[in-house]
Amino acid sequence: MVVGGFHGKILQVNLSRKNFSKVEIKDSEIRSFIGGTGLAASILYDYLTLDLNPLSPEAPLLFLTGPFTGTIVPLSSRYALAGKSPLTGLWGESTSGGYFPFFLKQTGYDGILIIGSLEKPTYLLVGEDGVEFRDASHLWGFSTYETMDAIKREVGGKVYVACIGPAGENLVKYSCVLNDNGRAAGRCGFGAVMGFKKLKAVAVYGSRKPPIAKIDDLKGHIDLALNEIKLNPFIHLIKEYSPAGYVSVGYGFGDTPAYYFSSTIFPMIKVSGRTLKLNYYVKDEPCAGCPIGCGKKILYGKNGIEYVDTVGYEALISPGLLCGIFSLDDIIKIHHLCNVYGLDIISTGVVLAFSIYLYKEGFLADKEFNGGIDYGDSGKIISLIEKIAKRVDIGDLLAEGVKNIGLR
Ligand code: SF4
Repeated sequence: MVVGGFHGKILQVNLSRKNFSKVEIKDSEIRSFIGGTGLAASILYDYLTLDLNPLSPEAPLLFLTGPFTGTIVPLSSRYALAGKSPLTGLWGESTSGGYFPFFLKQTGYDGILIIGSLEKPTYLLVGEDGVEFRDASHLWGFSTYETMDAIKREVGGKVYVACIGPAGENLVKYSCVLNDNGRAAGRCGFGAVMGFKKLKAVAVYGSRKPPIAKIDDLKGHIDLALNEIKLNPFIHLIKEYSPAGYVSVGYGFGDTPAYYFSSTIFPMIKVSGRTLKLNYYVKDEPCAGCPIGCGKKILYGKNGIEYVDTVGYEALISPGLLCGIFSLDDIIKIHHLCNVYGLDIISTGVVLAFSIYLYKEGFLADKEFNGGIDYGDSGKIISLIEKIAKRVDIGDLLAEGVKNIGLR
């Protein structure tokens, strides 16, 4: 029997019936698949048939932790979100950090398996005693940040929220699920899966720690790991500059793409992690129990918003360099907008860069962009983000992702 790392059960929530049950995870499954996305693949195997529509009541969505999550092991506050991707129609997995994963495990469940769909917008409040279905009609249309703030106010106390924004509600195929300080399970479009189910958010609280089999052994391994962390040069890079530090490293050997992957030459100094740090970093924003703190609070100072959440490597590359934008002010704004609407920063940037490429190749017309679009056109790119999230005009097509845009 597995004695450490897991509570040994997940919470299965049926949205259509508004009920829940506790489902044991088989010992053999844990031993074979360990946790996170591996274990998620095993648990979901029978649900994910070839003809399953990812945007249907039958489609499952699994929030799952790993054996270290919720324990004293550093860097372990992470959860996997898994199911069938509405973007690809294939297996989808995405992960996120922050505090939500730590407290998901502290609910006394290793994960939450969601099936069915709701008639009215709802959020789930999950604690040690199970689930409360709470009306979220008043939150529908709210940004991710507004949603998290509102739920925290309503529930009070220590509650951690993973939620969707307008992009998920509008079934944008690459909408994300955001939690805490801009941490996102970004890939694969699970925001749309929640949006289809009318599930605005999952909020968790609790203090039930998973069992630890051999605490002294574990502490010894943690000491070794912390030592490795101290010595690892890549960890130093992300601690100092966030993953944005890789922009200049990758630039050195042609691994940092720009202009829709057509060039690796660009004004790197303007968008390097060092430039970002010197001009915008305010303080570290680590996930629960992390000694590194690669997340950084960013100075913003616009529209009454003083600070925004961390801008990582993906944000600099995808809606930044791939779209030919080298102004950190603009990239930070674009990244924040993606968080606000609940859009995956990577897919959003790639779609926008692909659109510019298609326009320049003559596949998309002037009128689609009110007189065309070019690399570096920040104003138009910013306005397109809102159109994508709300599926307005050309945004409705762009919301379908690159494959469907290409097929049109
Ligand atoms: S702050 Fe960064 S390094 Fe630390 S656990 Fe979170 S994602 Fe990992």
